Amino acid sequence: MEADIIHRFHTALPQVRDWIDQLVDAHADRARVVSTLGFSRLLDCFPREVLDRAKVVSINRVPFPPVKKIGLPELAAMEERSLDGITFRDTFFLQEGLASEGVYFHELVHVVQWTRLGLENFLLAYGLGLVSFEYAQSPLERMAYELQKNFERDTLPRDLVRVIEEGTDDIWNQAAPTVLGSKVPPNPQR
Ligand SMILES: [Zn+2]
Repeated sequence: MEADIIHRFHTALPQVRDWIDQLVDAHADRARVVSTLGFSRLLDCFPREVLDRAKVVSINRVPFPPVKKIGLPELAAMEERSLDGITFRDTFFLQEGLASEGVYFHELVHVVQWTRLGLENFLLAYGLGLVSFEYAQSPLERMAYELQKNFERDTLPRDLVRVIEEGTDDIWNQAAPTVLGSKVPPNPQR
């Protein structure tokens, strides 16, 4: 991995953070708490605490950070792409009309990943995944898609949150030497 793009990831972080804060703020009045939406299977899968803080915004175009403008043209294809959904911290944005429980489940996997990594580490690991793999094969996405498949086939692991957290730690431990260089030990320890 070129040091140059990792450097640009770090430079972009504050701008992406501001963009996320503004986006979430701007839609706060339309965000609905997931536990109130009557998806009974989600209640079987995730602890109540996760569903009480996770929020969904239905939107006519799923937003993506303005990566081209902030110096990450390698990710520009993601801006053009029409996504079903995207998660920022506890809030996910879903394409209007997409109400399948499986899609909600997928984004809730991302909510748990975000909680585990925090904003900076999530964005660094996610960004590295996107420049290293095709979108659906990027590690944090691959986990969400695989678990979504298990959800739809009713073959989920018993201790779902723990499985997500451990998988997320593994992804981070893989990413950290590249995204942090050798200065910081590669373990979130949360
Ligand atoms: Zn996803």
